[in-house]
Amino acid sequence: MAVASSPSSLHSHSKTFNTARHSFSTSSLGFVKILSRSDFCSVGRVCTGPLRSHANLIKVSASAAPVMDKPDSRVSTVVDVDLGNRSYPIYIGPGLLDEPDLLQRHVHGKRVLVVTNTTIAPLYLDKVTKALTHGNESISVESVILPDGEQYKNMETLMKVFDKAIETRLDRRCTFVALGGGVIGDMCGFAAAAFLRGVNFIQIPTTLMAMVDSSVGGKTGINHTLGKNLIGAFYQPQCVLVDTDTLNTLPERELASGIAEVVKYGLIRDAAFFEWLEKNMPALLARDPSALSYAIKRSCENKAEVVSLDEKESGLRATLNLGHTFGHAIETGAGYGQWLHGEAVAAGMVMAVDMSYRLGWIDEAIQKRTLDILQQANLPIAPPDMMTVDKFKNTMAVDKKVADGLLRLILLKGPLGNCVFTGDYDRNALDETLRAFCQS
Ligand code: NAD
Repeated sequence: MAVASSPSSLHSHSKTFNTARHSFSTSSLGFVKILSRSDFCSVGRVCTGPLRSHANLIKVSASAAPVMDKPDSRVSTVVDVDLGNRSYPIYIGPGLLDEPDLLQRHVHGKRVLVVTNTTIAPLYLDKVTKALTHGNESISVESVILPDGEQYKNMETLMKVFDKAIETRLDRRCTFVALGGGVIGDMCGFAAAAFLRGVNFIQIPTTLMAMVDSSVGGKTGINHTLGKNLIGAFYQPQCVLVDTDTLNTLPERELASGIAEVVKYGLIRDAAFFEWLEKNMPALLARDPSALSYAIKRSCENKAEVVSLDEKESGLRATLNLGHTFGHAIETGAGYGQWLHGEAVAAGMVMAVDMSYRLGWIDEAIQKRTLDILQQANLPIAPPDMMTVDKFKNTMAVDKKVADGLLRLILLKGPLGNCVFTGDYDRNALDETLRAFCQS
């Protein structure tokens, strides 16, 4: 059963919040009409100004107009994630690791544990240690360097973080710092949630994927051999610090992987951003700093708005998982680390869009534009040959979005920028999509 709120009833902040909550919390087995971004008043707040005077920043509403920011080292962007007493800023800009005050103001206590991996440590661990201690010798920094890769996002590796924390006698006043991509961010956040039943933590994302998605919103966790991210906690950081300069060392394939999640925001709720991406994909792939800063800011605004409305994923937040049910099946089926998360999500989004089209919920132009933009970003538009219909079905059956045995999916419906989270769809359409994309 469809539950839709009329955009005309959504003019005040509180009304938007309450009405939106109601619209998705009452229909977990039916479908939930998700209003596109332009239907909402701004919730994620965006500020632009000199970072050192953050307290005095002028707050302006997130605007739907695709304007380019001009980053320079003195002026950057702050997107606030608005969660009451768990609110926090996302700082975005070049050279932010050279601004020690930014990090230090969010460190609780005098002891810090930096969690990173063997690839990132030689590149950025010294810099982060300096930023944490510069002008403040009372802060001591420990670090734990984990093996690199999705295949290590598991309980065994997580234990290395606890080993280090306990061996070095960290107490409840310590701060964990995640320095790396989504794998490190998810594991460090989960460790922070569980260590001594919760210590403070800070996210320093160094991949585009982590900057636009995984470091924001407090989802933390590890994989199980039977499925992705099945063990974890919602746990918000004290701040997210995005130093866009760290993208200079990111391999191309990883950059493209992050772009998949950027495209997702356009498809599910931000048509204006999708159009901007269609025009600016070459600039993003060429790592144009202005284009990257704008794409990160816009993605964080979208994520902050959604998380502010539905922190624990009662409904609306699930829409951020467009293509992920198919994608997680690919990641699990192919073996963790074989397909990058964003690559699997890209192929998964193509499958979700294909299914939306088969259901008659979107027109052909949206399907074509989705394929075009993902191909432009050098992302896959189909799953690997080894994925069979049965492999998809078996893995999708343990997805977190299964409720009472019913698989709920995020599907596009209506004009570009609109989607639904629903278990109410024709099962034949799912079967047809799986058969269309699998050899057997
Ligand atoms: P990743 O963390 O594995 O990083 C990708 C690779 O890039 C790694 O080899 C890493 O060492 C390397 N790297 C990172 N930063 C670098 C830099 N600046 N220069 C050079 N190399 C660098 O992968 P990812 O794509 O960042 O994250 C994927 C993970 O994030 C998945 O586990 C996924 O489930 C998770 N995720 C979580 C959320 C969430 O809401 N928590 C959202 C999206 C994705």
